[in-house]
Amino acid sequence: MSNTKYVFVTGGVTSSLGKGIIAASLAKLLQERGFSVTIQKLDPYINIDPGTLNPYEHGECYVTEDGAETDLDLGHYERYLNIPTSQANNVTTGRIYQSVINKERKGEFLGKTVQVIPHITDEIKRRIQILGETGDYDIVITEIGGTVGDIESLPYVESVRQMLWEKGEDNTIVIHLTLVPYLAAAGELKTKPTQHSVKMLMQSGVSPDILVCRTEHEISDDIKRKLALFCNVKTEDVIQSIDAETIYDVPNLMLDQGLDEVVLKKLQLSSPLKPELKVWNNFLQKHKNPKHEVEIALIGKYIELQDSYKSITEAFIHAGSTHETKVNVRWIHSESLTPDNFAKQLEGVNGILVAPGFGDRGIDGKIKAVQYARENNIPFFGICLGMQMAVIEFSKNVLGLKDAFSTEMKKDAVNPVINLMESQENVTEKGGTMRLGAWDCKVEKDSKTYNAYKSENISERHRHRYEFNNDYLKQIEAAGMKATGTNPKTGLVEVVEITNHPWFVGVQYHPEYKSTVLKPHPLFVDFIKAALKQSKK
Ligand code: GLN
Repeated sequence: MSNTKYVFVTGGVTSSLGKGIIAASLAKLLQERGFSVTIQKLDPYINIDPGTLNPYEHGECYVTEDGAETDLDLGHYERYLNIPTSQANNVTTGRIYQSVINKERKGEFLGKTVQVIPHITDEIKRRIQILGETGDYDIVITEIGGTVGDIESLPYVESVRQMLWEKGEDNTIVIHLTLVPYLAAAGELKTKPTQHSVKMLMQSGVSPDILVCRTEHEISDDIKRKLALFCNVKTEDVIQSIDAETIYDVPNLMLDQGLDEVVLKKLQLSSPLKPELKVWNNFLQKHKNPKHEVEIALIGKYIELQDSYKSITEAFIHAGSTHETKVNVRWIHSESLTPDNFAKQLEGVNGILVAPGFGDRGIDGKIKAVQYARENNIPFFGICLGMQMAVIEFSKNVLGLKDAFSTEMKKDAVNPVINLMESQENVTEKGGTMRLGAWDCKVEKDSKTYNAYKSENISERHRHRYEFNNDYLKQIEAAGMKATGTNPKTGLVEVVEITNHPWFVGVQYHPEYKSTVLKPHPLFVDFIKAALKQSKK
């Protein structure tokens, strides 16, 4: 039996209140007080994981070290806590039902009728406790996706109710996040939606211990008292979460409100340490007071929903702070880049990043963007599909293989410089079957990549099916694009660079997933440095 304590975070009134950021901020404060903390996200949808989801649905699919395709909130958890998450940190209804149904097929329920209660709720509780039972964490924070009152959320709320009962109030607490809207016409903050939302939670047998109230205006002590009275909590347990200039302000805002203190008190924990947030505040200080500015073009096909590139834009913020530089993103839809307008659309940028992606929509625009960066000596960063497009562009326009392409977009390409990995040839299922998670890479000493990492041995996370076709390696290298990073076991090309260019790096992996506040990613740091240099020209 471990002594892990459990904090549940539920949400009411509306979605998008920032439960993930509140959970991550609380975890950060508890970490600063010396506790070992992790955060888990329960997603009430029926997909097994978000790997098969279009980014327009819930934004980016985040990938963990162990190769789990997960909700983008796990990215926030890692960026705040600077510790890796894993498959156990993200559970979906699909995954819960899949395990229960698999057990049923094996006859493990011994003839019983399989039901939501107890079988689904038992599986949910088991998944919640997996992290606690590793013995690695003093506190596990579990964020319940969706909004209280949704049909999908019911089994989760019921599982929380059972866990509160089983583990007792010293070991479990519920933080309920709601919205306190401001009615301009009345000139007032309104508490009724929060009252209703808490009532809804209580109908499921769960009373919140702490209310975190999202608001655009300061919540007065009077309103706090009113909320406390009607929602059955102490006034000190009503915490305001006022709109912030950046998500990275939230840990400080929660510290000012004493969220960590009330949580520890309720969990009967104490610590001699006070959160100092030293490195964090140093990052914030530089982020908020930049001395320089650069503009980076981000080329992708999901730019209507910027959350599709969450980890990339956060990595820009981390790297920007390192150089006291504000990184402005010029969002460019790859489909809007045509042979006639690409030069105009890209004019004046200090760097170009071609984003990851799948399928052939907008491919020509991505290739044009690479060409522009290469020909005009603009720092270029290609990630996954972006790296593959860089190889194609180089093969076409420098090597002269006019019909060079990827077999992802053109099955019968005459010069398939990017082709399907051998291990993928017999794969028919879409979900969870890509080359995923952390793989080693050996970096050439004489390269931009080595200069950035200062190491020959790195490990980065992947999510792809296609690869650099090594049949073309010799020709491509002879023409001036070098493979400066390769998988030490398979020889698979992980990094390409153009040597006679100020900064041209394409990576088959996703460096953005590993950038955190405490450890901005070296390649992003170096890319922004190159963009800064370009901007001074
Ligand atoms: N579609 C490409 C592949 O599967 C690139 C994937 C990506 O950008 N994540 O290889």
